[in-house]
Amino acid sequence: MTTKNILVLAGDGIGPEVCKEAEKVLNWLSAKGPVKFNLSHALLGGAAYDKTGTPFPTETLEAAKKADAILLGAVGGPKWESLDYSKRPERGLLGIRKELGLFANLRPAMVFDELAEASTLKREVVAGLDIMIVRELTGDLYFGTPRGVETLPDGTRRGINTMVYTSPEVQRIARVAFDLAKKRGKKLCSVDKANVLETTEMWREEVQKIGDTEYKDIQLSHMYVDNAAMQLVRNPRQFDVMVTGNIFGDILSDCASMLTGSLGMLPSASLGARGKDGKQAALYEPVHGSAPDIAGKNLANPIATILSVAMMLKYSFDMNKEATLVEDAIKHVLGKGIRTGDIMQDGAKKVGTTEMGEAIIAAMETLHKERSKAA
Ligand code: NAD
Repeated sequence: MTTKNILVLAGDGIGPEVCKEAEKVLNWLSAKGPVKFNLSHALLGGAAYDKTGTPFPTETLEAAKKADAILLGAVGGPKWESLDYSKRPERGLLGIRKELGLFANLRPAMVFDELAEASTLKREVVAGLDIMIVRELTGDLYFGTPRGVETLPDGTRRGINTMVYTSPEVQRIARVAFDLAKKRGKKLCSVDKANVLETTEMWREEVQKIGDTEYKDIQLSHMYVDNAAMQLVRNPRQFDVMVTGNIFGDILSDCASMLTGSLGMLPSASLGARGKDGKQAALYEPVHGSAPDIAGKNLANPIATILSVAMMLKYSFDMNKEATLVEDAIKHVLGKGIRTGDIMQDGAKKVGTTEMGEAIIAAMETLHKERSKAA
């Protein structure tokens, strides 16, 4: 039996609560085989600071490097807000992304039919939506130099940030996006501002070259970022996979995620480069934060974290059948009108974090039995 080592970094606030439910899903899959998930835990964020004096202990980094995949809850909370910037929980998150070279951020925006009413857009615009935004995470304005604010001799203040990408950086994120498109609807839209920004003109050329030479079977298009923002709210279903730089991706992925209506439903993945041995650093986490307002009350929706596990199964372990089982179990539970508070609708049954997790496991069991019989 193959064993996969998963490091769980539950973090702060609702992090431990939602991770606990996601771990149940991994343990259930482990028991069924053929892959055994070996779960271990380490500290990150405020929880790590409280125990060790740092939000990102060396032991956590070492454990993260050894793991086949990482599941993260969330970090942060008011308790640590007055700490020096270097000790804040968020430094733990940025630290792990940087140390593991997680340059590709994958954010699916999927609308479950049962929740189409939760979107601020009309049902007919978002029903059945399933798009994937791939954001470059380690370059662009966020890291380019020169940067800073200076005061000129006449007293005027000038702020500077630098948009910078190298061709290998563009090529590696493009390949991640093309590979995803290959597994999905075979359509990729690259987003830039090539009409005014030279950096993104180069981006467009490099993406096109990769498409022409390595991915002839993928339908590649290019779109200016202003138009992409408009199209995302006008007709989001025209997209399959979108790829873009750090700053455009930051904004567009938040916009796309809100098409789905609820923070408690949104998973994400951050991937590094694949090594020669085939190993790829990968961290999976819900998009939401630590939600201190509802922490410890059994109110958090664990679905975003459980969907992050489904992404892990798909992208780290090629376990598509199991990933589909998890997603279908969630649809099954939503179809039965079971809801946590954040996605509550009239006539539905309101449950807590644990009950939602248990309902999803029960649905996995039912669907698994049905599918085994049919096979
Ligand atoms: P948040 O995502 O934690 O919460 C925003 C709102 O959504 C809150 O009302 C919360 O109760 C609700 N919510 C979030 N997740 C939910 C879930 N699973 N189920 C039900 N309701 C949910 O964002 P915030 O309030 O801006 O930030 C709180 C803390 O989290 C801050 O310290 C922030 O820095 C941190 N944060 C961490 C991450 C991360 O770890 N990746 C991301 C964002 C924010």
